[in-house]
Order: sequence, then C-alpha cells, then structure tokens
Amino acid sequence: MQFNTAVLRARSYFATGVTRPVVFRREQLNKLSAALRQHEPALLAALQADLGKSPYQSLASELGLVHAEINHALRHLSSWAAPSKRRTPWLVAPADGWVQVEPFGVVLILGPWNYPVQLLLAPLVSAIAAGNAIILKPSELAPRTAEALSILVAKTFPPEYISAVNGGSEVAEALLQEKFDKIFFTGSARVGRLVMTAAARHLTPVTLELGGKCPAIVCADAKVELAARRIAWGKFIGAGQTCVAPDHVWVHRSIRGPFLAALKKTLREFYGEDPSASADYGRIVNQQHFDRLLKYLGDGKVFHGGENDAEKLYLAPTILTDVRPKSPVLQEEIFGPVLPVLEFDDLDETLTQLQAAPTPLALYVFTENRSLEDKILNTVRSGGACVNDVISQMVGTGLPFGGLGESGFGSYHGRAGFDAFSHQRSVLRRATWLDLPFRYPPARLAIPTLKRALRFLLRG
Ligand code: NAD
Repeated sequence: MQFNTAVLRARSYFATGVTRPVVFRREQLNKLSAALRQHEPALLAALQADLGKSPYQSLASELGLVHAEINHALRHLSSWAAPSKRRTPWLVAPADGWVQVEPFGVVLILGPWNYPVQLLLAPLVSAIAAGNAIILKPSELAPRTAEALSILVAKTFPPEYISAVNGGSEVAEALLQEKFDKIFFTGSARVGRLVMTAAARHLTPVTLELGGKCPAIVCADAKVELAARRIAWGKFIGAGQTCVAPDHVWVHRSIRGPFLAALKKTLREFYGEDPSASADYGRIVNQQHFDRLLKYLGDGKVFHGGENDAEKLYLAPTILTDVRPKSPVLQEEIFGPVLPVLEFDDLDETLTQLQAAPTPLALYVFTENRSLEDKILNTVRSGGACVNDVISQMVGTGLPFGGLGESGFGSYHGRAGFDAFSHQRSVLRRATWLDLPFRYPPARLAIPTLKRALRFLLRG
C-alpha cells in the first residue's frame, strides 16, 4: 500500500496557492455544510447501524456540533486569518512587524470510531478554515460511517484537495510513512505513541487527542440528585463510549446512599425498566470491546444493571460498588457503560491518589463551595475540567478542547482549531532609507554604553 501519489497530488494542489484565499476557504466550508445536510440521512443511518445511535443522539452529539464549528468559523474566519500587527524594538526601527497566519500545507486527520462523524469533521472544519489540503482517515471500527463519510467527501471536494482513505491499522501505518505537514490524531494513547513516533521521522508536528480515566468527585455539599442526573447522562450517552465521559465517581461517604439511589432512579427515568428497548441507549461497538467490558463486572458488586446480550452487543447501564482496589476496572480506561462508584472520607487522600494517576482528559467536580472547587482544580491536573456538570466543557466553540500528559496535547474547537492547523509566521519589514552603523563590525561602543543602549533599543 502506497500513499505517495495521494500526498504528492495534495502537495501540488496546495502549492498552487488555491486554498489560501479566505474566499476559497469560506466556499469550502459552505460546501461542507450543504453536503452534511444532503448526506444527513445516510450518516444517521450509518451511525445507527455502527453504534446503535438514534438520529436524535447523532444530531445532538455529532452533526450538530460540526455545523456549529462551521458556522463559527464562517463568522470569524476573516479576523482569524488577518495579519496581526506587533511592536518591534527600536533596535530595528524603522520597521513594521506582524504575524501572518499560514496554512501548514498537507495535513492528515486520523479519527476514532466512537463519535466518528464529529471527531473527523470538526478537525476538518478547522483544517479547511486554516487553508490546508487534507487527507482523512476515518476509523475502520465504524465501517458504515466511514463509508458514508468517504462518499460525502468524494462527492463534495476534488481528491487533490480533500480525500478520505479507508482501512485499518495497516492503512494508517502506510499513510504515516508519508511526510505530512501536520498530523491530527484522535484515539488511544497506545496508537498516539505510534503516530508520534512516525511523525518524528519527518519532524511533523502533531496534535494528539487521547483518552484516559476522567474522574468525577461528588463532595458532601453537592446537589445529590442533580449530580447523579448529570453524571448518569454523561456516562451512559453513547453507551459510555465517550472520551470525556466520567470514568468513575468518587462520592463522599455521607451522601453515598442517596447518590446511588438517585443514580438508579435516574437510569429508570432515562431508559425505562429495560434499557435494551430504549431508542436512547446505544450498543457496544464490537465483540472485542463487549468482552473486555463484561470482565469488569467481576471487579466489584453490580449494584445496578449488568444485563447483557452478546449477540446484540448490549450491555445495560451498570453501576459497580465495592470495587476491588487495583482491579482492572480501576486501572484501565473503561470506555463503556460501567460506572464504578467509590467513596471517600478524606478528600486529601483521594486527591493524592488522583495526583499520582495519569493525567485525564477531564476532571469533574460537584460542589457548591468555591474554595473546595479551587482546591480540587489546583491539585489534580487534567486536559479540561467542569464544575457541577460533565462533558459541557467540550461542547461549543468558545473553550479549547484538548488533553494533557497521558490524555494528549494540543487543542481544538473554534479559534483553537484554526490555530492547531496554522503556522504563526512572524514577518518584519525594515525600512531601507535608514541604516545606522552600530550593529556592524567593528564594535564601536564601550561595554557599559552597550548595556545601557540595549536596555532602550530592545524595548518593544
Ligand atoms: P485507536 O487508537 O484504536 O484508533 C484511532 C485511529 O487510529 C483509527 O483511525 C485507527 O485506524 C488508527 N490506527 C489504529 N492502529 C494504528 C496504527 N498501528 N498506526 C496508526 N494508526 C492506527 O482509538 P479508538 O479505539 O478508535 O478510540 C478510542 C480511544 O480514543 C479511547 O482511548 C478514547 O478515550 C480516545 N478518544 C479520545 C478523544 C478525544 O477527543 N480526546 C475522542 C474520542 C476517543
């Protein structure tokens, strides 16, 4: 498998300069928006088939977010792309300095399967807005969605500008042999390491959007029912296969009983007595993940849920209590509808434990107390954080979304996405009518005079 021709074709197209004008970028964003509407039925059907996502969920958590990115980029693109004037020091006066935001060139976007439309197309919006030529690699684990996305791309854009390549890890590995100008990867830390290693060979910059074990901490003063409702929503949307889902919950011992009761009540309200019959509840992506998740049920006591059907890849929303310390469910990213509820007495002890764990993509804190909130946010690091809710920190275009440490680096959404696909090129233009001799050899100032002069001359 060789992608040399595809990359060269994209490189030649980029080199023509056609992708640079803002007018062109706006046209492409409008085309993408229209294509998303036109292909909506096919995408919704594919998401339903791959992940059991209802159209309602897919519109809210996939297509709607992409439209929001497009609309935001269309509104702000002119100002994002405009050169921004900067001060220059007296030493080089008279001169003008500015930052000219430039596209990287040919970029590769590798997507995961869990939100296969949003997590491929939201970076695509940013890459188009920034003026790049783009190669997309959807995840093979959501095959019908990958196919629908490829059709959308092929019917909307010329292949030398934007193309989609389908296939598994061997295809991704072959793609990574090529030299790209930027790689944007969303997926696991394991594959993230492989991507970064491959990128290093060409000194290609990368953004890694990875996962992790996002903890939720419910303090004694939290609004218990509200916390349970919001945590249950964030945990079980997409059947728990959400990178920013709360992985596990730490709840203060004094409210453990009411919290668990509220979780149970909420799950009945959300999905009825039999979640397998609910249109709002998804399925596990494949047998391998289903088997992996089922093993977690042995790591504690099933307080609620646990029902499953291997044939239908169905695992009910499940709450685990009395979880064995150091068991796999507490070590590995769960990425499924299993919620361990752990209790704490001494918050400091829990914070110390969380401090020692790999840095998660998100940290969730439930409390009405601002100083407690500050204490937790200042002690436990994470890519993003949300107080008194889950997932909301990554919805919309205002807040950059990204990880830290084991959950990745770099961020996107809105302006941050545009920046992730742009190079900040500093340019200084000097006047030619003046050329003072001080910098040229031979040195003509005494050292003390030079020191004094530099203090003034290097001031911007
Ligand atoms: P994954 O790492 O298995 O796959 C992601 C992409 O990498 C796919 O396109 C896949 O084809 C490709 N790939 C697979 N093997 C490869 C290889 N050897 N070399 C190069 N590329 C390869 O991840 P996944 O299972 O699709 O997604 C689940 C993971 O992604 C979880 O860890 C989750 O937390 C994380 N995630 C993170 C975010 C985020 O925004 N930070 C969002 C969704 C998922």
